[in-house]
Parts: sequence; structure tokens; C-alpha cells
Amino acid sequence: MSEACCLCRPNQWNDWRWQFRNRLRTKEQIGAVIKLTPEEEEALSDPKFVVGITPYFASLMDPDDPNCPIRRQAVPLNLEALPSKVTMADPLNEEGLSPVPRLIHRYPDRVVLLATETCHAYCRHCTRRRRVGMVERAVTGEELGRAVKYIAAHPEIRDVLISGGDPLTLANMHLDRILAAVRAVPHVEIIRIGTRAPVTNPYRVTPELVAVLRRYHPLWINVQFNHPKEITEESARACTALVDAGIPVGNQSVLLRGINDSVAVQKKLVQELLKLRVRPYYLYQCDLAEGIDHFRTPVARGIEIIEGLRGHTSGLAVPTFVIDAPGGGGKVPVSPQYVISQSTEKVVLRTYDGKIVEYPEPQD
Ligand SMILES: *Cc1c(COP(=O)(O)O)cnc(C)c1O
Repeated sequence: MSEACCLCRPNQWNDWRWQFRNRLRTKEQIGAVIKLTPEEEEALSDPKFVVGITPYFASLMDPDDPNCPIRRQAVPLNLEALPSKVTMADPLNEEGLSPVPRLIHRYPDRVVLLATETCHAYCRHCTRRRRVGMVERAVTGEELGRAVKYIAAHPEIRDVLISGGDPLTLANMHLDRILAAVRAVPHVEIIRIGTRAPVTNPYRVTPELVAVLRRYHPLWINVQFNHPKEITEESARACTALVDAGIPVGNQSVLLRGINDSVAVQKKLVQELLKLRVRPYYLYQCDLAEGIDHFRTPVARGIEIIEGLRGHTSGLAVPTFVIDAPGGGGKVPVSPQYVISQSTEKVVLRTYDGKIVEYPEPQD
């Protein structure tokens, strides 16, 4: 590996800002750390695709295996340019559900606040790629003011999710300002942050950051681990620091073809997450965003995976498999069928290991 590749672990390796500043962004930089395939080379020559990979996340890539799960999440393929009849720029109609810039209000009692368009690493499967990374911008004071004004004017909003982009690309001071503004609204009960920093730049979770976050309890964090290979000493340390600060950490993973679309990989992933006290929350069917068609799996695969987990491992480890409804209807849970038949007398059920049992209904 050449010096230019940044993977030689200089002194600043553990400094999250150094990791962020030295994200690999070009074909030359990425070609210096992995042996590029023609499909990768072609995509990396296309200025349409926004690429950025922290040296840390890049160090997890297998230089010789084009199917490496980290590589497939971080390095584009020419398949991203393929036209598709079903994909959309904004598959969840987030722009249509945005009452003021940077706020998405889809459900009655909660909203998403888009804090920034920047990430530590740009996921190839990003559902928000119409805006994320396109311009690396963060919420301005004026935008934040408008968003908070909207939240304050809607007493039904009791849950605010700070997302992006990755909110943990912002400096502590900036994040503090956002959290303080949201927390100042009396009817906001809980705050959630969606971030991939523990996975893509775990050094971001510093004692100073944790000190900021714990001032805004009840605060929850959702991360996105998609493959057991992402669980390292560093990512484990980041999750432990958050959980030790009383922040419940959940995981939202995306079902990705050829990356994590098997019971074996998912089982290993969710069991490893429980060891870190990270609770598997959602498993997402891949959205219909432009350029990510090649990641989609049949819905049956997701059902099969849940079936392979439920009963076979800790109930705590089983996420809810959801399809985010195209057009913006919200997340729809999709489950294996355990109810074989249902009458006023009884329900006939199937157990996780295939036994048939009857449950008599109350008769009065
Ligand atoms: C996912 C999402 C939420 C949160 O949904 P939960 O099921 O409460 O986790 C809220 N708003 C929008 C727009 C979302 O996409």
C-alpha cells in the first residue's frame, strides 16, 4: 500500500477529524488500497457518483475480493448507472412530506430533522442519495430556527429524529446547538439520532461527544451495521461508550443482495450486536431509490431471514422486517405467517420449528 493511501496508520489515525478529512474520494485514492475491477473503475470515473470512505472503513475492505461486504457498501459499481423502470429519485416522497426545509413529517407524532448532507462514508445503497453528498452542507441557524418553530407549533410532535446525512459529522458545538434547540420545545419527549459513525468512523464517539449527548436525555441512537465484518474492536468501543452513557442503541440494517441476504450472515450479525448491547430494531427491504436496483432482494428473502431467526435465537436479536411504502406511506412490517387458521373457537398456529398447535379462544 502506498503512503498516499492513508492506511499506513499515522499518529492521527484515531482522530475522527483526520479520518473525515482524509476520506478516500477518487479512483486513484481507492485504487491505491484495493485492486479495482473494471466495473468499479468505470463507476469511479463517473463524476455523477459521490464517493467518500474513511481510511478506517477502507481498511476493512478486502483488496482482492470484489464481493467483500464492506467494499460493496462503499465502492460504486457501474450498475449504479443502469436505468430502471421502478426506481425513483425520492421513493418515499420525503420532499412532498416536508412542511419546511429539512423536516419530514410523515407520522402523526414524530418528525425527521435532516441535520446535514455529509457522511463519514457514502453508502452505495443510500435511499436519500438524491441529496446526500451532492453538496456537503449542514443545517443553517435560519433553517434550524424554522424547523424548531414548526415543531413548537405542533404539540403532537413528541419524538424528533435527527438524521441526514450523518449528524455525527458535525462538530460537537454544532450538534449541541441543534440538540438544545430541539430539547427546548417542552412537548418533545424523546430525541433520536440516526448515525453510522460507530460503523464508518468509530473514533467520532469521544468522551466529549458523549458528554454533550447525555445532557439531552432521553436520547436514543440508531446505527446501521449491515454485516458482522463491521463489528471491530473500534466499533464495539464506540457502541459501549454510548450505551454506558445510558443511550439505548438500536440497529437498522438494510437487506442487501450478495452482502447480507442470508440467514447465516444475519444471525451472526444480530448475535454479535447483542453482545455490544445494541438491539436489532429494523431490517429494511431495499428502497426503490435510483442507482440501487442491483441491491434489491425478493421480499420473500427477508421473510425467510426473520423465520430463520425467530425462535432459533434470542427474541431480542430479531428485528422487525419492514418495507418503507413507496410514495411515503410509512414503514410496513412484513412477517412470516404463523397463524394457519383462525375461527371463533380456536386459532391454529405453527411453531418456529414447524409443529402445529391449537389455541382455544375464550368462549362466553
Ligand atoms: C422511519 C421514519 C420515522 C421513524 O419511524 P419509527 O417506526 O418510529 O422508528 C419517522 N419519520 C420518518 C419520515 C421516517 O422515515
